[in-house]
Amino acid sequence: MPEPRETGKRLDERVSAARAAVEARGETFYPGASRIHLAAFPPKERWGDWVEVDARDPARRERHYMLVPTTCFNCESACGLVAYVDRETLEVRKLEGNPEHPGSRGRNCAKGPATLNQLTDPDRILAPMKRAGERGSGRWTEVSWDDALADIAGRIRTAITEHRPNAVMYHVGRPGEDGFTERVLAAWGVDGHNSHTNICSSGGRAGYHYWMGFDRPSPDYANADVIVLVSAHLESGHYFNPHAQRIVEARQRGAKLVVLDVRLSNTASQADHWIAPQPGSEAAIFLAIAHHLVVTQRYQREFVRRWWNWQEYMTVALGRPGATFDDFERELATLWSRYTFDFAAREAGVDAGVLRELAELIASAGTRLATHTWRSAAAGNLGGWQVSRTLFLLNALLGAVACEGGTYPNGWNKFVPRPMYTPPHPHTWNELTWPVEYPLAMNELSFLLPQLIAEGRGALDVYFTRVYNPVWTNPDGTNWIELLSDPAKIGLHVALTPTWSETAQYADYVLPMGHGSERHDLHSYETHDAQWIGFRQPVVRTAKQQLGATVGDTRGTSPGQVWEENEFWIALSWRIDPDGALGIRRYFESRERPGEPLGVDEYYRHIFERAVPGLPAHAAAEGTTPLDYMRRTGAFEVRRGVGAVHEERVPADELDDAVTDELGRVFTRAPRPAPDNIVPVPTPDGDAAGRRLVGVAVDGCVARGFPTPSGRLELWSRTLAEWGWPEYALPTYIESHVHPRALAADQLVLIPTFRLPVQIHTRSANAKWLDELAHTNPLWLHTSDAARLGLGTGDLVRVETELGHFVVKAWVTEGIRPGVVACSHHMGRWKLDGNERGPRTMAATVGLERAGATWTMRRRRGVTPYASSDPDTRRIWWSDAGVHQNLTFPVHPDPVSGMHCWHQAVRVRRAEPTDQYADIVVDGDRRRALYAPWAARTRSAEAVSPDGTRRPYWLLRPLKPAREVYALPVKKPT
Ligand code: SF4
Repeated sequence: MPEPRETGKRLDERVSAARAAVEARGETFYPGASRIHLAAFPPKERWGDWVEVDARDPARRERHYMLVPTTCFNCESACGLVAYVDRETLEVRKLEGNPEHPGSRGRNCAKGPATLNQLTDPDRILAPMKRAGERGSGRWTEVSWDDALADIAGRIRTAITEHRPNAVMYHVGRPGEDGFTERVLAAWGVDGHNSHTNICSSGGRAGYHYWMGFDRPSPDYANADVIVLVSAHLESGHYFNPHAQRIVEARQRGAKLVVLDVRLSNTASQADHWIAPQPGSEAAIFLAIAHHLVVTQRYQREFVRRWWNWQEYMTVALGRPGATFDDFERELATLWSRYTFDFAAREAGVDAGVLRELAELIASAGTRLATHTWRSAAAGNLGGWQVSRTLFLLNALLGAVACEGGTYPNGWNKFVPRPMYTPPHPHTWNELTWPVEYPLAMNELSFLLPQLIAEGRGALDVYFTRVYNPVWTNPDGTNWIELLSDPAKIGLHVALTPTWSETAQYADYVLPMGHGSERHDLHSYETHDAQWIGFRQPVVRTAKQQLGATVGDTRGTSPGQVWEENEFWIALSWRIDPDGALGIRRYFESRERPGEPLGVDEYYRHIFERAVPGLPAHAAAEGTTPLDYMRRTGAFEVRRGVGAVHEERVPADELDDAVTDELGRVFTRAPRPAPDNIVPVPTPDGDAAGRRLVGVAVDGCVARGFPTPSGRLELWSRTLAEWGWPEYALPTYIESHVHPRALAADQLVLIPTFRLPVQIHTRSANAKWLDELAHTNPLWLHTSDAARLGLGTGDLVRVETELGHFVVKAWVTEGIRPGVVACSHHMGRWKLDGNERGPRTMAATVGLERAGATWTMRRRRGVTPYASSDPDTRRIWWSDAGVHQNLTFPVHPDPVSGMHCWHQAVRVRRAEPTDQYADIVVDGDRRRALYAPWAARTRSAEAVSPDGTRRPYWLLRPLKPAREVYALPVKKPT
């Protein structure tokens, strides 16, 4: 049982105590926007001219800096950074945390300050490059931005004017912004948004989406008493730095930390309870806990009664209209009776007593239960989306939803201001991203693009990859090489990237984009119960402006000809529609200077002056304008303590003609008030009379509820029931494709999904400090498995997947579950021999050969010291760059969420004498046969759609097209 502990001390009280302690020492308290005292941090009032002595200068000369805020672009957290810009040379000397940032509060992980390495990376791309030989040949020529824009725009214009809008696609890895580029595509009228999300977080999102409408959780860690993480979240998860610091605060108060992870990660090592279950069994554990909470009546009865869609479940699913809550409770007690602790223990391979103890701990949290899963198990397993769904079930049972110490819907802890222009929804549907077989996919079936094009569903005239490296990141990367090498399938490939990558090697244009301190973006993330915006900006441009210089576009202040994307998209859109005849240009036109392109200062000035509540007044109080405030501060907290939005009463003027249906849903014809926060919200259907859902009737009042079809938290999903998956309409457990029953006797489960704390996908390989810290990814192997296989640490092993094999070194450890091996995907960067462009501090040089359908990669050279503008590159002492395992994985699309199910059933054995470290072999002939059973699991909208549409309209979808194109095409008679 948990020990008694201090609970719920509010931030304000803690800040007051900290202030008193600091002032008692006679020091000045620097509160920052986050009101966290950082004594060592320069007070904002002195950021204009901050003086430091250069530690490396024997003469100890003073250096004068302008401290210019921006945000980190090395993971999705977008923590605040402050760039130290030398006032004399306008060089960025270092980057540290921004204490004015409400999410990160002055703190960063190692990757934040390492942004400096990326700015000075001697291998970075400094000019637009055009292919000068075959794709992948490594022959490039510099080209002007003007010529590149003319060529790309001409092709896009042709596709649009020839009514082939789906021939244009933008494929993004890390968005790092809130909708700018989606609006660009909408302005072009193309359904061309493609994301990496189905290889990342669709599984996690789906489970949350079916419960609460929003697709992410926002746990209030700092105020929780029990925190449950299904992942290594504390060290490397989603928004992990802002979250980690709040988890640490909770633990200082005595909160208990539970970590489910097959590895003894750094996160698990900090846990009070580390549980290493059989991969894919997590949902069985959570259902057993849920059942325990129900049968021991430890759930919050009133919360369940008020906020679950139990009435809909009883009426529609069970055909019992008029059933009472008591009737439902009797039903509830039976729903998961199969999931005893003994059952879960057998599935998970974890002692039943441990699971019971965990259940008791969770029960003790009451409403102070913060839970989180994102990638991890939800991204690894067939049916992984039920992991997040069953985890959130625990919150929903305890009423630990949108309350202090509980878990919020992300949309309430995030703020997206209304932009200057809002182009209409595109009037087209792209089958290459939203194929009809996956009507419920949370995001684009991005990793199936080679398959879908090979099936003849379309081809692309212009394909942008942006901060995205599918050849390296996606499963079965050689299939991507085959796709990208074929001009009949990809007419023109434009890689928008700050750094060379495996994918950029196969592009037609490689266009250099700015790093986090060289570009504008606006973003907001759910780090705690508040809403804030963060402003990424090109810091040298801003420094110049603040010194009184007139600045043009960012090409004038970035290294070489590096550009930022905002300005690039505006310029490209003008080229596509130079005279405005296509109706595109108007979305990129200045209002201050009609007839001229929109500038970034005007764009952000418009937003900060008109669309961010409280910012103009706050800036005025500091004697400045909203834009200047954001340029000098980098972030603004819009609201704090958002609270339980679902409990808010709907105002009377929205209820004039309201009608309430038998399920308590309230519909109105009153117009929807224009929200200031345009976070994408699901759009549940209205009633048959065309009224919109405005709220739900709860105990005689009309409350806002949740953005789900029922307006409540959905225990039972009518959507799943009606769209072909009635067996999954309740939170349930789906056996993974790597369930022990699916494994041969000699197979192990490979966990390839875990991050390293100091690396981040493609982004960080050009950061020398990070490469020195982490440059290898051995195979974690339990001592018992190693003994059985006769292997020791450092031995070369072959890991055989269904599609091929890779050769890696073993690391024998007690820190992993027996029967499971793990290898981080943050390693194994490569560049082709003879085409040596790439991050040399972290990419090996390989030979890549194709014989028929078989691809073979062999390392020719590891990382070596080299001469460059940076003397540190001569001091490189490591030679490893890890092994690229993703090439050997076939595609595994989950039939519901669309998530690629990353875990692999593998055989591990000692390497052959002819094998070399980092060898990769892929048998492309197996592709089709391996994909077929996964494709066969799908239930096409053509077969299951209840209303003749491709997809439930209410489900979130990036760049939602116009409603009329949701209709399934009418089949021609054969
Ligand atoms: S990489 Fe680190 S500093 Fe940068 S945003 Fe992510 S957590 Fe924050």
